[in-house]
Amino acid sequence: MTLIAENLRAVQDRIQQACQAAGRPAGSVRLLAVSKTFGPDAVREAHGAGQTAFGENYIQEAVDKITALRGLPLEWHCIGPIQSNKTRLVAEHFDWVHSVDRLKIAQRLSEQRPAHLPPLQVCLQVNTDGGPTKSGVQPNEVLALARAVAALPSLVLRGLMTIPDPVEGFEAELALHRRATTLFEHLKAELALPQFDTLSMGMTADLEAAIHAGSTLVRVGTAIFGKR
Ligand SMILES: *Cc1c(COP(=O)(O)O)cnc(C)c1O
Repeated sequence: MTLIAENLRAVQDRIQQACQAAGRPAGSVRLLAVSKTFGPDAVREAHGAGQTAFGENYIQEAVDKITALRGLPLEWHCIGPIQSNKTRLVAEHFDWVHSVDRLKIAQRLSEQRPAHLPPLQVCLQVNTDGGPTKSGVQPNEVLALARAVAALPSLVLRGLMTIPDPVEGFEAELALHRRATTLFEHLKAELALPQFDTLSMGMTADLEAAIHAGSTLVRVGTAIFGKR
């Protein structure tokens, strides 16, 4: 086995154990492999070990990688900040976007999504821990944004994404993640959209707490590809 394959297996084990500890069914949490700063060869290697979904932060770097790997059946997720002048690249190259936090960006993504592609799958990034300088829509504004995004023709609203600031200890992590889960469940009930099923939450350091709190998708970079 290659190192990336070994790492992937170890991360899958962590996910399974966390599911078991939380009394959740095995397979209820998807793994997104975050390949930012790593080249096409690393992605190819991870794909060889069975990984199909990859997350990227930097749009131009991602587009180069996606283009280089066009022959492989991969699913690409944009998880980084999106400026207005980058929406076209995102709409043309990605399958998912987790980092939508403004209606203007969502409108541009919907308008620019090529007609021959399936709708773009979208999560709203929510600032659940309230830092004023952080990106993400404020929790009290997310329902209005969700309603507006759900009405756009070339997008499918799939859920929420959070990136809480690091905190010390499992209990503190859990408390933060639970805040996001509460908001997610509230929106699910209010919106009643069948495809609103994704809570993108948890990274290398805190995936156990995120899964315990109800995450359905963890975004893991370092534990798979190594230090950036
Ligand atoms: C880099 C990044 C990750 C992966 O972080 P690791 O700590 O390396 O697992 C996940 N989500 C987002 C939004 C990121 O930018």
